[in-house]
Amino acid sequence: MDCGVPFCHWACPIANKQPEWQDALYKGKWRKAYEILSSTCDFPEFTGRICPAPCEKSCVLKLSCDQPVTIRENEVAIVEAAFREGYIQPIIPVRNGKKVAVIGAGPAGLVVANQLNQKGYTVTIFDKDEAPGGLLRFGIPNFKLDKNVIDRRMSILEAEGILFEMGVEVDLNRLPEGFDAYCVCTGTPTARDLPIPGRELKGIYLALDMLAQQNRILEGQTFPKDKLVNAKGKKVLVIGGGDTGSDCIGTSVRQGAVSVLQIEIMPKPPVDHNPATPWPQWPIVFKTTSSHEEGCSRRWCLTSNQFIGKNGKVSGVEVEEVEWAPSPEGGRPVMTPTGKKEVIEVDMVLLAMGFLKPEHPKYAENVFMAGDADTGASLVVRAMAGGRTASAAIDSYLSNK
Ligand code: FAD
Repeated sequence: MDCGVPFCHWACPIANKQPEWQDALYKGKWRKAYEILSSTCDFPEFTGRICPAPCEKSCVLKLSCDQPVTIRENEVAIVEAAFREGYIQPIIPVRNGKKVAVIGAGPAGLVVANQLNQKGYTVTIFDKDEAPGGLLRFGIPNFKLDKNVIDRRMSILEAEGILFEMGVEVDLNRLPEGFDAYCVCTGTPTARDLPIPGRELKGIYLALDMLAQQNRILEGQTFPKDKLVNAKGKKVLVIGGGDTGSDCIGTSVRQGAVSVLQIEIMPKPPVDHNPATPWPQWPIVFKTTSSHEEGCSRRWCLTSNQFIGKNGKVSGVEVEEVEWAPSPEGGRPVMTPTGKKEVIEVDMVLLAMGFLKPEHPKYAENVFMAGDADTGASLVVRAMAGGRTASAAIDSYLSNK
């Protein structure tokens, strides 16, 4: 709290004032701590649970003695106290007569709606899913974020006058009529696929096929047996070493997989971190779950050449070791397959290799964009930061009109 330069604040995409609210917390002033926290963060109950906390990674104490001040858990403690003590109550704004449509009810869209609603705009959020939350609800597993936490906040936003139009897929070339401005917050819906021989075999799924379905099952929905993506009793291979991959591991373990192996094309960070890979290490070491400690193996520097099948179902994946070397031009490192091949036996493959940045139509001047739709796949806290920036731009545009 006394550090000269609070790098935690600098590293936080929404510029949370960690030293200030930590000081209030330390003095037992919980309400004040909540007021400071909520001045920059619309939904601390989400970020406090699932943010990889760049603030802690850049804490002065982390940099000097590898033990940061606890920030994320304190954030949850403050916001949970605020709900418990009744500090968070619906605030009904005075309406200014202007209407804004937000397309997409993920964290970016929810922040845009919250900010503009509080300024008096009448905000309608459209989403193709049956319930709001975006990837918070239909991507991030319940073991990381319980969906009651989303429902609790949605009740407040609804009571404050935000209108939710769920189950409505908006044609982005023909936005709904009757609004003064729009914010497109539709995320990155297209997952990167792996079009190698054998991709058509049964038993190969995109990560969200499993994750979104599991979240729906936990909400009480049912699916026909032949549509279930379930790892029970299976040898699972997760292709892709990021956050989505680790959520596949945690979900497979909970469903009762016999074994889970995660492979990654990149070198292992940071112990074997190859100096040939010049990109910063810390996004790689960001972590939002304990999945890797729950029972899985991991291998690095492996590319997948082909899926092998038996009776139309996947039974193996031919992988090949790769080497990385600096690019002679100084750009991205160059990957070279080594010829060292092997077949990994599998019953199920989950593809977790990221998401494609979407193309958008050329919009009119009253159409704004925020979140992953704007930046490409990122983090909840960055989507929320984008929501704040876009809402300020919409307010300025409509105020000056
Ligand atoms: P989204 O959350 O994707 O929301 C977009 C919304 O737009 C969706 O509800 C969608 O239904 C709706 N939509 C799309 N097209 C239309 C249309 N045409 N009409 C109507 N509605 C539409 N980040 C973290 O910080 N921590 C984590 O632990 C974490 N874990 C993750 C785990 C997984 C499996 C995944 C996939 C991502 C994870 N992320 C995590 C990233 C994070 O979830 C995203 O960066 C964030 O949700 C992006 O927010 P968004 O509002 O831009 O988009």
